[in-house]
Amino acid sequence: MRDRITPLLTEAQIRARVQEMGAQLTRDYAGQDLVVVGLLNGVFPFFADLVRSMDFDFDVSFMQVASYGGGTESTGEVHILKDLDRSIQGRHALVVEDIVDTGLTLFKVRNLLKDREPQSLKICTLLDKPSRRKIEVPVDYVGFTIEDHFVVGYGLDFDGKLRNLPYVGVYHP
Ligand code: 5GP
Ligand code: MG
Ligand code: MG
Repeated sequence: MRDRITPLLTEAQIRARVQEMGAQLTRDYAGQDLVVVGLLNGVFPFFADLVRSMDFDFDVSFMQVASYGGGTESTGEVHILKDLDRSIQGRHALVVEDIVDTGLTLFKVRNLLKDREPQSLKICTLLDKPSRRKIEVPVDYVGFTIEDHFVVGYGLDFDGKLRNLPYVGVYHP
């Protein structure tokens, strides 16, 4: 499997960028009532590193959604496999994602969370593939903008595997 990967972002590059993002989020949210919402499964390494670079007190909570339709591309029909364990009503919510591709998943998740009436709702992603977008969704914090490649590592999987790689690479099937 690993012989099919071309490195794209090194551990050091990711670490430096995540630190910057954490510092920015600290400037933007410190002193406010914030819930940082992680979208499982892919977000776990990024989430762990990001929240540890945020230097103030906030809540964390996780959500897991699945897209109907199968295949490698999402259809935008999402259902909730695991919901948040706390309310975001009247609070600031920051959704953290591994990668925004077509935008369909995030668009649905955003609407779903908006209905719960947070005071604000923003989106933070490690990776963004804007060339693949099928629906416009505002992404407020982006780690790296990348070309249209299928990437793995640092949470991103190929067939459930490779999430544990400490770097991000392009997978050549
Ligand atoms: P979207 O609804 O934006 O098309 O889908 C986003 C989800 O598709 C991501 O959270 C991720 O699970 C998956 N995805 C999109 N692009 C990639 C990619 O390049 N590599 C991997 N491993 N997953 C991807
Ligand atoms: Mg994801
Ligand atoms: Mg996946």
